[in-house]
Formats: sequence, C-alpha cells, structure tokens
Amino acid sequence: MSDANTPSNEINYKETLHLPITTFPMRAGAATREPEIQAFWQDQKVYQKTLDARDKSHTFVLHDGPPYLSSDKIHIGTALNKILKDVVVRYKTQRGYYAPYVPGYDGHGLPIEAAVEKKIKGGRKAVSELELREKCREFAMSNLEGQETNFKRLGVQANWEAPYITIDAKFEARQIELFAEMVDKGFVFKGLKPVYWCPISESAMAEAEIEYADHESHSIYVKFPLKTLDKAFDAPLSDETRAILSEYPVSLVIWTTTPWTMASNVAMAVHERVEYALVELGEHGRCIIAVDLLPTVAKHSGLEKTPDILHRMTGKELRGLEARHPFIDRRSVVLSADFVTTDAGTGIVHMAPGHGPDDFFAVQGFNRSELKENPLPVISPVNGRGIFDDVDGIPESVVGQFYEKANWTFLEILKEHNALISHNTFTHSFPHSWRSHSPVIYRATDQWFINVDAFRQTALDEIKNVQWVPARGETRITTMVANRPEWCISRQRTWGVPIPAFYCENCGEVHLDSKVASWVADVFREESSDAWVKYDADHFLKGRLTCKSCGHTSFTKEKDVMDVWFDSGVTHTTVIEERSDELGNLPADLYLEGSDQHRGWFQSSLLTSVMLRNKAPYKAVLTHGFVLDENGRKMSKSQGNVVDPNTVMRELGADVLRLWVASVDYTSDVRLGANTLKQLGEIYRKIRNTCRFMIGNIAGFDPHTQTVPYEQLSTLDRYVLHRMSIVGEALTDAFENYEFHKFYQLLQNFCVVELSSLYFDVVKDVLYCNPKNDHKRLAIQTVLHQILSVISRIIIPVMPHMAEDIWSHWPEEQKPLFGLAAPPTSIIEAPWPDIDGCWRMLPEEAKSLEALLALREGVNAALEQARSNDDIGSSLEASILIQPLSSSWNFLKQHSVDLLEMLFLVSGVGLVQGQDVQQLYGEHPVVAEHELEGEYRIYVVKASGDKCQRCWQYKETVGAYHDHPSLCMRCHTAVTTS
Ligand SMILES: [Zn+2]
Ligand SMILES: [Zn+2]
Repeated sequence: MSDANTPSNEINYKETLHLPITTFPMRAGAATREPEIQAFWQDQKVYQKTLDARDKSHTFVLHDGPPYLSSDKIHIGTALNKILKDVVVRYKTQRGYYAPYVPGYDGHGLPIEAAVEKKIKGGRKAVSELELREKCREFAMSNLEGQETNFKRLGVQANWEAPYITIDAKFEARQIELFAEMVDKGFVFKGLKPVYWCPISESAMAEAEIEYADHESHSIYVKFPLKTLDKAFDAPLSDETRAILSEYPVSLVIWTTTPWTMASNVAMAVHERVEYALVELGEHGRCIIAVDLLPTVAKHSGLEKTPDILHRMTGKELRGLEARHPFIDRRSVVLSADFVTTDAGTGIVHMAPGHGPDDFFAVQGFNRSELKENPLPVISPVNGRGIFDDVDGIPESVVGQFYEKANWTFLEILKEHNALISHNTFTHSFPHSWRSHSPVIYRATDQWFINVDAFRQTALDEIKNVQWVPARGETRITTMVANRPEWCISRQRTWGVPIPAFYCENCGEVHLDSKVASWVADVFREESSDAWVKYDADHFLKGRLTCKSCGHTSFTKEKDVMDVWFDSGVTHTTVIEERSDELGNLPADLYLEGSDQHRGWFQSSLLTSVMLRNKAPYKAVLTHGFVLDENGRKMSKSQGNVVDPNTVMRELGADVLRLWVASVDYTSDVRLGANTLKQLGEIYRKIRNTCRFMIGNIAGFDPHTQTVPYEQLSTLDRYVLHRMSIVGEALTDAFENYEFHKFYQLLQNFCVVELSSLYFDVVKDVLYCNPKNDHKRLAIQTVLHQILSVISRIIIPVMPHMAEDIWSHWPEEQKPLFGLAAPPTSIIEAPWPDIDGCWRMLPEEAKSLEALLALREGVNAALEQARSNDDIGSSLEASILIQPLSSSWNFLKQHSVDLLEMLFLVSGVGLVQGQDVQQLYGEHPVVAEHELEGEYRIYVVKASGDKCQRCWQYKETVGAYHDHPSLCMRCHTAVTTS
C-alpha cells in the first residue's frame, strides 16, 4: 500500500503493516517437490505408522485387482484406477479404519509369453520350456519394477515392500491346492472343446495370436434327407406341415465353406423366426431353404428361375426334426440358434461342434436342456498335425490326409452319395496363425472345465448380497453369470500355473485330487511351478500313487496350464486369507476396477469363492468407465490424442492428475485432454494459494494462547466457519457414497468463491492494518487457523502432496494436534476433520448474513457505476448510504457499521430514511445510486475526511494526531502500540 506521493521524509508506513509471512511457495514445483515428499513418506514409514496407529478390529480392506505385467508403463486408465483406489484407502484411513492396501501384479499369461517369444532369436523352439519360463519371469519382474515406480509417483500409498505377485512360488502352490479342492468337490471335469489350432506349429492358438489374410475357400451346398417326422425333442409341427412333408422325400439344404468338417456334422441350426420354404429344386427333389435365400440357392443349383413355393413354415416348426447324415450312419438334428441369419447360405447352418465354438456351445446348450437322454457327440477326427485319424465312421479314403487335401476327397464322397447340389471356390479374409502365417482351424481338444451349473444359483444369490456401485453393475454381472457356459480353465501354453494332473501311462486314467495336489504344492512352494517342466512325474509322486483303474504306477504329467483369470480369481484366498494377519477376514470390503471386469476379475473371483466357501469374496464392487479424449473419442497413438500420465505428472504434478480423478463422474466413461488439464492446473493453483493466504496470515499467531472463543467471533467469522462445516459435511457424505467428483465442485467453490473472493478480500484490511494483538485480528486468525486445519486434512485423499507441503511449511509451534498427543510427523497420519454439526449457525442468523451478502452485490454494482464515471478510484474513496425501501430496516440495524464497512470495503456506511434523502443530496453529492430488487436504494457519496496514509481509508480522524498527522485513529493506535 505504498503511495507514490508519500514525501520521502515521512515514515514508510508500509513497514508497519502485518503482511503475510510464509515459506510456503506460491508455485508447487511439483516435478521436484512431489518426489521429495514421497521420499519423506518412505523414510518416515508413514504408511506403516498410520496403519499401526489404527484399531485392527475396525478394518476396511480394498483388495487390489492385479494389472498384467506385460509392460513396464502405465496408461491413463490404470492411473485412474489406482488413484481412485488410493482416494478410498486414504479416506477410510483418515476415518479411523485399519485400511491396509497390498498392491498386486498378474505375472502369467499369453501377452507376457508372446512378448518374450518375439525376442528369442530363432523363435520359440530355440529354447527349452524351462528357459522360456525363466525369461518370462525375468520379463515380468522387470515390468513390475517399472509399474511400481509409476504407481508410487502417482502418490499411491501401499505396502510396497510386500506386494502380491501371482508368479510367487507360495501363491502358485496354494493355487493348485485350491484347484484340487474344486476337483474334490466335483466342480471340475474334462471334456472336448474346439480351440483355434495351427496344424503347422502343432499348437493351440489364442485369439490374440490370430491375424487375418485372404484365403481361397470352397463353397458347397449339401442335401440332408429328412429321416422321420418324429421329433428328437418336444417341438410344434402343424398338421398341415406334417401332411405335406410326408408326401414325398424331403431334404434340408446347408451351405458350408469347409467340406472337410462334413464328417463331424451332428446337427443343423435354423432360426425360430425365419420363414422357410418347401420347393422342388430341379433334379435335387423337394428341399427346404430359407425363403429369403431361395433365389441365390436356385441360381447355384443351375435353375433358370426361382422355383414356386409349395409350402411355408417357420424355423420353430423345423426344430427337433431328424435328418440322415449324407454319408455316415448318423442322425443330424435340427436345432435353433440366434446366430443363424439369412445374409448368406441357406438359412440352415451346418453344425460340427468339434470344429466351431458357436456350434459347440449351441449343441452343448441343447444337450443340457432338450437332449439330456440322448446327447449329440463332439466329433473331432483331425489330429494335431491336421491329418485325419482312423476314427469310427470316418470314410477310409480321407484317413491319413491333410485336412485341406481332404476337402477334395469329401467333395467326391458327397457326389457319390448324391448329396452335393453345387461347388465353387471364392476368396475371403480368413484367420491365420501369426507364427506360421498359415490358415488355422478349429479343433476340439481335451480341456479342463469348471461346471458353472453346479453352483450358478448360489453365485446369482450372492450377487444380490453385494453392494454394486453404480447400481447398474448388478444387472450386468447377473446377466453374465446367468448366461455363461462352462468355464474352460485349461490353456495350451507354457507360462502359467500347471494343472497338477497325472495320467496313467498304461491306461490313460487321470489322477487329480487334494492329496496329489498337495505333493505337487510341496515342491512348488520350494521351487515355484518351474519344477513342473524341470522334473518328471515321479519327482512329485515319489512312488506314492497307484492307478485307480489298472494298478500301474508310472505316470505322465498334464501339459496344460490354467487360465490366468483363475490365478487372479483366487486371490481372495491366496492373498487375503493367506495374509489374514495383515488383511483381516473375508469377504473384502471393496473390489474396484474398470467396468470390463464384470466379465473378468469380478466374475472369476465370485465363481471361485462360491466354489470354495459358498460366499462372494467382496461386500461391495465399484466400477469405473474408460478414459476418452476431450471430444469423447477413444485415445490412440494414431489419433495423437493419448494422455500419458507421466507427462502430466512431470508438467503439472500428480496432484493435478488426482484432482482430475476427483472431478469426473467415473461411473461412465470420462474425458481428458490438454484443455481440461490446463483448467485443472489453474484451480489447483487457486486452492494452493488459498491455503498460502491462510498460512501466511496466521504468522505470529499462537493458537494455544490467542484463540478467540467461538462466542466472541464476529458474525462474518462465524458465518465462514458455518460454511466450512456445511462443505465439510457434504464432502464427508460424498466420500462415504464414493461420489468423489463432488470433491472438486465443493472445494473449488469454497476456496475460490467463499474464501478467496469474499472472506479474504474483506478481512485483509483488519489483518494488515489493525494492531497485531487486536481482538478482531486475533478472531480472524482463529478462523484462518481452524479452516486451514480442516482443509489441509480434507484434501489428503485427493491431493496428499499439497497437504504434506502445507504441513511442512506450517510453523511447528502453530501446528494443531488433531486430537493426538503431539502434532504428527506427517499430516497423512491425521484423522478426517470431525466438524459435523459444529460451527453451525442458527438458520435465521445465517439467513440474515446471506441477505447482507446479497446487499454487498448491490453495493458493488453501485460502486462500479461510480468508478466508471471516474467519480471515485478505489472503493475506499467512497461512503455508502443505504435507504431501506421495504421492512428491512431492523435487519440492517442488527449489524454493526464496522461489519458493513468491512464487507463493502468502503470508508463509511450510513443508513438513511426517506426524509433524509433530500438533505443528503445537498450535503454530500451523490455520485451513483442503485436499487436492489425493491428492497434498498444504495447511494454512493465521496467519503468525507482525509486519506490515511497507512490504510488508505478516508477518515475524519486523519490529522487529529500531531505525532502521526497522516494516520487515522485505528492506524495511529496500531503504530504507537505495536
Ligand atoms: Zn491305469
Ligand atoms: Zn488508517
């Protein structure tokens, strides 16, 4: 407040003002400061210390879903996930819960194996299985290091010393014991299932290993003669249809591009609501074809024109009919399936469940529901090299042939049996192996399954006992669990937990139970599951096993490993139960992941837990959406719209990224981009500077001896505390209900509008100019101290670095105790502020102050008008006169003139009645006036008196003191007493 016109021989009164003093920097300098703070937390063992201070019987366990260790980087979605988890855990910790957080990592699986394979010179076959596993382990562990560094940089507080890793030897040992327990309980069975198979590399292929390329295929139409009109299962057939179908022999016509799968046909599928026609198809006799496809089929059959329709029927009527296989003594049953369309073919789909997953699941469904007594078989006569084995019913002429060559042989066979209507070839996009670049086939192989039907109802019941956030998650997972088929648990890979089964070398009998698994687990515990590929069967069995069906004692090991979803799915037991000292009892309080995990981890965890203990493993499940760019588009490298969390942290800090997480409604997809970040950065700075103002202005204040009792605070002081308590309660509610986005709205509004633009603006004059130990000033400092002690704790879950930064610049002797014996070393140890209900004003008192704030708006409008007319410069050059127009006179009189002057930032405030106004115009020239909603008329007049050279207010008392002739009374006291 220096004045350029102050004569140099006068005292520089600026030095006598009490301007804020603090070392807390305006700029965060997050790139260097946040890592310093994180190092401090680590040195001080803040995570452990905070945990130890909590009551262990009062737990809240958020169980971490393990990210894959297929990369050492994290993307923005992972950052969102980890930050949300950290916000929950920090909040619960502050609320007094013992809330441990053990981070997890998923270390097995195809993405890791595939990445490692690509790096091996000479390809996979150049190394042994053991070497491959060692390389996978190394790769996973080095990625763990990278991810952990990133998670720590986000400010995530956790037991970093002892994370859980699914490739840990003890974890693997426990996992196979659990699997054996499920086998003992009868939940596991072996069966056939078609998988992608590459006959060149002789191995199963995962979806991710498939690439598409053009390929020339066959296109054939084939007749299946109806055998009987007696149905294989109960389904309607109208008398009319029955009569017309029984007149002459009738065939169903199918279309396929894989003649070699004809030998595996056991069924045909129609769509219940599609309309089918009975027609005379030239020399091929009476045939059934979908009405819509009749013209195409007619053309392929060499007919000049589309034949007349003799009869129409729906797919529903055709269900259950039985046809004869064209060249094998076997029935082919008409089923219905939703995947049947009339886009191509005949509307009747050839079903070979040994060679197609759609076929397989549809047939399994009918076997379970309609064909229980006489189920359809899965026939898979092609061996691992793609060659036809000598299997029952397979024509001799194809035995020993590669499947592609066999296509031609099957064409001959179909012709011989008068079943082939037409044959063509065409080129289309077809799945190929990424390894051999040759076409892949579906081939049914022996797999391990979990029979979900055996416990599906319990799982569905348990879903109802879980809290789903948002609530729509319940419907989602219910539908998925209700409709999921058996869980295929085996994978034909190397990098995974082996299925600990043994096969009798004499008779092939499979041996797997708890006892066998415990022998394997003993070895795994010491040497990890690498032991499985290192040793032969006897190393595990040690002569303790005899074949239960033939009495032999030599065995081979199972080659398949388990689905990685099983690894992470059993962490409720392999982690929570195994570490119950640290993690308490099941069920966990919360699982929190992206919404895609309804299909994945939430489900695999639920199913395994229900098998083991008939219970869901969690009390609540929270899901979040995906991160899109600012325009709602998917982030992708090619679009150039990817936000890298590390770049954000480097440029703006982890707290800004965390503030973003607490600003978006995570229940749907969320958006992020440069503009959002810029805005967030500004709000972050505003919040920071609000705190800086408070810490700077309580300099010299001793909270232990100078705190002004609540009753002695001014109405405005109490009003600000009142607002703090309302905001605090709303924040508590928001955190309790996992509505974190309210944090941003509430805190931003309180800091920027209520504190910065209102309260701070108004109290600056008293803080800077009043005598140091003046009561009013101490009252304001009391309020600032209390609000800072609330805000510095309320921001911990979202902006822990800023909270710690404030704490580290807070003079030791001023630090609040937070109900503890001494101020904590780190603010992270501090509890959540317990301000519910305290500081609340009576409703009428709050209302009265709010009316005054509305009046302030009117005053500001009047002052603005005077300023734009150049009648005044600063508002302090003005006095305000208020004329109540309605009955508000008494209300105004309740408030002191001091409060009004403060609030309006003017040099004087007076109240005038109707009759005074005339006089007013005479004595004090009115420079502006403004009417506020019929309630008040506000007059701006030039302040009387002279300008005080210290506080710049215009006062009559300026000039009254000979020792300081340029000071007002207040400033004179301030200068002469302090
Ligand atoms: Zn045997
Ligand atoms: Zn003054």
